[in-house]
Amino acid sequence: MRLLEGKTALITGASRGIGKEIALRFAQEGADIAVTNISDDEEFKQAVEEIANKGVKAKGYVFNVADFADSQKYVEEIIKDFGKIDILVNNAGITRDTLLMRMTEEQWDLVIQVNLKSVFNLTKAVLMPMMKQKGGSIINISSVVGVSGNAGQSNYSASKAGIIGFTKSIAKEVGSRNIRCNALAPGFIMTDMTARLPEEIKKEWIDKIPLKRGGTPSDVAAAALFLASDLSSYITGQTINICGGMLT
Ligand code: NAP
Repeated sequence: MRLLEGKTALITGASRGIGKEIALRFAQEGADIAVTNISDDEEFKQAVEEIANKGVKAKGYVFNVADFADSQKYVEEIIKDFGKIDILVNNAGITRDTLLMRMTEEQWDLVIQVNLKSVFNLTKAVLMPMMKQKGGSIINISSVVGVSGNAGQSNYSASKAGIIGFTKSIAKEVGSRNIRCNALAPGFIMTDMTARLPEEIKKEWIDKIPLKRGGTPSDVAAAALFLASDLSSYITGQTINICGGMLT
């Protein structure tokens, strides 16, 4: 028996990186998959095709998760298409790194809206349907820097710390409805987001990691699978660090 047989999962920001890997892993475990992305590009179409090739129902939806009205509208559309949403993974995220002295209001607002407001938008949209179906698992992708802070990432760290507080609050609000809400805090994961960092910064990060390597999207997807499945049925309001021991 596959771990997510009969479940439907919605994963945001899944054209590449961690979101795509989570979608593929969930599909491998039998879940039907709705994925979202902001760009309607070839990469996203290919990702949807790869997910469908796992033998499950898969469909892509293009909208900006920072937009409240669109998030509501597309969740309704996804429920029409799939019948339900059992698992929500709030994965979409961006960086606009710079020291606060140089940070513009636009850089602050954009990161907070895409990384944090989106989590409010999507969680709010799925909550009533999950209550009606008497269960669900919500997984929010935070970051170790939401716990530790990081110079040059005050906007990003604030958004990721906000996600942890949000996760704990929602777990308390809806635990009695059999809806669990947890966060994952990845450390240094090798995706497009980290590929653009200068080599010396990458080396500095890896030197600080006890396991002496960057993480992979599949390291994160394995933990997401645990939180999505009934294996974690008594776990809610928690943040799991996936960081090779960087944060203890
Ligand atoms: P990535 O490779 O840059 O992928 C981000 C994905 O999000 C892309 O598919 C992107 O779409 C989509 N996206 C961006 N803005 C969006 C929006 N407004 N609406 C909908 N989709 C949007 O990033 P990643 O490294 O896989 O990161 C995934 C998540 O993990 C993020 O929340 C990130 O903060 C978190 N995280 C990553 C690391 C790391 O080391 N990589 C560490 C800690 C936490 P396009 O392709 O159209 O741009």
